[in-house]
Amino acid sequence: MGSGETEVRACGICSIIERVKNRTFPDWIAELPRSWLTLGDAQFYRGYCVLLAKRHVTELHAIPRGEAHELLDEVLAVGRTLAELLNPLKLNYECLGNQEPHVHWHIFPRYADDSMRLGPVWLRPEAERRVALEEGARLELITAIRRELVRRLPTARIG
Ligand SMILES: [Zn+2]
Repeated sequence: MGSGETEVRACGICSIIERVKNRTFPDWIAELPRSWLTLGDAQFYRGYCVLLAKRHVTELHAIPRGEAHELLDEVLAVGRTLAELLNPLKLNYECLGNQEPHVHWHIFPRYADDSMRLGPVWLRPEAERRVALEEGARLELITAIRRELVRRLPTARIG
């Protein structure tokens, strides 16, 4: 067993992907050719999604160019889906990876009634951001995202 495998096992994103594959991650939305889409845990920003690259790689530029372009097409499809469904004032796309060494995007819809809308989402205290949707609303949102995403990206798998 090489050191690369040890690194993967310690990666929080790879752990989530394992749970998604085992169908034990309740906020899974869709499997795309290059990524997994999940609903985020900070639904103060209703529709907040996290898109996880399938490949365990720390930097976006380390992904082969063609594959990176396919991945970016998936980011765009998710963005268009959220814009269409939720009509946000602005979408924020964040590809950070400072805490987990695995390329992923936080995609945050920002709304006009957010008093902190001019700043980054992380300035809002975590306790305020981490709003869980009521179960019915959560399932309704996931279903709506799936429906719109498949329309835009027919290769998306939702079942
Ligand atoms: Zn990983």
